[in-house]
Amino acid sequence: MIKSFPTHEDRAQCHTALQLYAQGRWDRQEMMSFISGVLDKYGISQLRVDNFSVRKGDPVVTNTGSWPVVIIIADQQAYSRCPVCNASAFDYLAGQAPEITAWCRGCGSIYRKEVRDERTEKGRIGVDLG
Ligand SMILES: [Zn+2]
Repeated sequence: MIKSFPTHEDRAQCHTALQLYAQGRWDRQEMMSFISGVLDKYGISQLRVDNFSVRKGDPVVTNTGSWPVVIIIADQQAYSRCPVCNASAFDYLAGQAPEITAWCRGCGSIYRKEVRDERTEKGRIGVDLG
């Protein structure tokens, strides 16, 4: 069976789901279940949406069921704020100034973040610009 190509509307709804989550109107599991449902609809594990991709991770299995996990990864361009939800709060994941890999506290996306060396997180980033 040939699956149809994901529609613009479905991509837009993935973006909306992330914004609702970042605004606190949806919880994390609602957001992940919705996006996972869109991926399942097309039988795909990854979908490009605007300047980021959503990708299926391994589901979390608990005694109340199996919960879909969705990983949100921005493109490789560096951003000063989250390109998905525009939040500036982040956690450090990897890398060195002036560009690190950050985890957005707003929507949970992973993106390349521009940082100045004096703002490096908790002094863990060694700066060697020479
Ligand atoms: Zn975000």
